Amino acid sequence: MKKNSILLIGTNNKGKLKEIRELLPKIIKTKSTYNFNLKSPKENGSSFEENSIIKSKFFSNKTKLRCLADDSGLEIDLLDKKPGIYSARWSGKKNDFNKAIRKVYKELDKKDKNWKKKKIKARFICVLSISLLNKKIALVKGKVEGLISPKPKGKNGFGYDPIFIPKKYKKTFGEMSSSKKYKIDHRYQAFKKIKKFL
Ligand code: IMP
Repeated sequence: MKKNSILLIGTNNKGKLKEIRELLPKIIKTKSTYNFNLKSPKENGSSFEENSIIKSKFFSNKTKLRCLADDSGLEIDLLDKKPGIYSARWSGKKNDFNKAIRKVYKELDKKDKNWKKKKIKARFICVLSISLLNKKIALVKGKVEGLISPKPKGKNGFGYDPIFIPKKYKKTFGEMSSSKKYKIDHRYQAFKKIKKFL
């Protein structure tokens, strides 16, 4: 673990930033994109991996710091793994997740009118990458399997948390305390794998 080299957390999503800071060992000094007033790059990759690397390289090039970036999203099997890499985009320009959740329900209705009575399999994916300038240092993937809740539940967390029930649990991520969610989710699973590169 490199004590003295600052790690930039390459995200403009406050929910992710909070969670990543909680997951990182306290010994690591971090900065966020908010410290530099940096806008996010266009995520025009075709996979979580490509988009994660686009972000870590972009923010590292702008700051000359080592950068850890996350690309994540929700895959729903009945929707052919959508919203997937488009998870943020389904919330529109205003980042309105009520809108994104309505879209999920609308798309599920289109596929199967009776979906609410069935088990709708889904998973959250998180791909973390670390880059220094244009060099990729690490790339790992974590996931958590679960089901889509027929109605949104809970006010905790962010994004699609109110509609995701992780496997072996009855509550949505939105109903769980953040400390509980952080111990089981996709970001935690990816973190376990990237720790050795920090
Ligand atoms: P991106 O990685 O910036 O493209 O955004 C991924 C999007 O996926 C976020 O804006 C959230 O909507 C969603 N997402 C990723 N991780 C989580 C999570 O832990 N809970 C809820 N939604 C998430």
